[in-house]
Order: sequence, then C-alpha cells, then structure tokens
Amino acid sequence: MATTTRGKVLRELEGRGRGTCPLCKRKRIKLLYDNTDKNGQTIKVCKCCRPKKILKKKTN
Ligand SMILES: [Zn+2]
Repeated sequence: MATTTRGKVLRELEGRGRGTCPLCKRKRIKLLYDNTDKNGQTIKVCKCCRPKKILKKKTN
C-alpha cells in the first residue's frame, strides 16, 4: 500500500497536500485524511480531525 502522508507523494497533491481544514479551520495544514461531512460527502481533513477508526490498530 502506498504511503500517501509522507515524502514526495505530497508534492503531487493539490497544494502539496496542504490547505485549510474544513473542520478546525487551520490554514496551510496538511490535509491527509478522509472524513465524511454531514452531507455524506468525502472531505479531506487534517490529522486532528481524522476519524478515530484510522487510529485503531490491529491487536491480534
Ligand atoms: Zn482539522
């Protein structure tokens, strides 16, 4: 699986992976995670606003 949060992959993204987070309104923060807004649309959010399920690791 390709790493999409580090390295030169970021430079190929729009705004080099940076922008304003739609949830916490931080500017020029890296928007690397998919989240779903209240309309059911997929939006890019920063690490602070990522869904918790991404943080969950396999335990077994
Ligand atoms: Zn955010």
